[in-house]
Amino acid sequence: MLRQNTRPVNVGGVTIGGGAPVSVQSMTKTDTRNVVETVAQVRGLEAAGCEIVRVAVPDAEAAGALKRIKERIHIPLVADIHFDYRLALRAIDAGVDKVRINPGNIGAREKVKMVARAAAERGVPIRIGVNAGSIDKAKYGPPSAESLALSALDQSRVLEDLGFRDIVISLKAFDVPMTVGAYRRMSELTDYPLHIGITEAGPAWEGTIRSSVGIGAVLAEGIGDTLRVSLTGDPVQEIRVGLEILYSLNLRKPAFSIISCPTCGRCGIDISSIAQEVRDRLRECPPARPLKVAVMGCAVNGPGEAEMADVGITGGAGVGMLFAKGKLARKVREEDLVHELMKEIERIENDQES
Ligand code: SF4
Repeated sequence: MLRQNTRPVNVGGVTIGGGAPVSVQSMTKTDTRNVVETVAQVRGLEAAGCEIVRVAVPDAEAAGALKRIKERIHIPLVADIHFDYRLALRAIDAGVDKVRINPGNIGAREKVKMVARAAAERGVPIRIGVNAGSIDKAKYGPPSAESLALSALDQSRVLEDLGFRDIVISLKAFDVPMTVGAYRRMSELTDYPLHIGITEAGPAWEGTIRSSVGIGAVLAEGIGDTLRVSLTGDPVQEIRVGLEILYSLNLRKPAFSIISCPTCGRCGIDISSIAQEVRDRLRECPPARPLKVAVMGCAVNGPGEAEMADVGITGGAGVGMLFAKGKLARKVREEDLVHELMKEIERIENDQES
């Protein structure tokens, strides 16, 4: 896929833009002042594949916790700050890797200047995060793709006028067509890397669909350098959904992919529980190289898909066929299918190592 050319921005060792792989972010849902809980949540996100994590910094106590959080985690830390420039200064001083602010809600130019100067001295980028809900309606009119993009452009000019260009921009709305239009417009107006997402997308099920449609539509146009899926619920789910969006568009390679059929009246085995068990076991112990696993219900499409995968099974009446590297390996009883499949995966792994 041809991707838009953007400026690279370094966030604590992770490059956003400049053709770098689209990174996946999340935000903690703990009270940032509670270092133990926040670090535990970040570690869970790291294990799920999160590459950058953001924490809310609503007050001085939360800013005071940043250094201790930063010391205990392994991925870049972003401080999310509104209104109070002193919190941004404290966060930068604590060693965060990026700050999310809106120059427009920080106030006087002198305050923005202090933040930009401190960020420049420490090599800390700033994300300008414009949300449809907080747009200045008196200045830009009601939220629209155009007003979101113009508002972000004005905010970026405030920093540019101070000589600061280490900028990432996000333009988020709940409305998917508006968000897609805003990112499209922004990519015409600037080469700053774009952080994409659908804001307040909803509970896990609805939010997953809304985010996948919105983020997927933006990415499919070659726009976007990093993403965050916003779900009401476990942030680990945000990472899983974000990664799956990237895998679906071939923008990242998964450790493994499972091709499983939806099942129908021809299905001879319990595909649903077999596919889930295989997925859980591969998540626990991911293969060293990308692996395609097919789990198919019957002989209609099963053998074809299984032959194209690295390893696969197709169901029959109480028995299945096991395929490896495109060839039928053997017939297996239904109750032994997962075990035999995992054994075959292990054998493929060992062969590749030797
Ligand atoms: Fe139905 Fe067989 Fe297709 Fe699965 S592979 S959906 S069981 S026809």
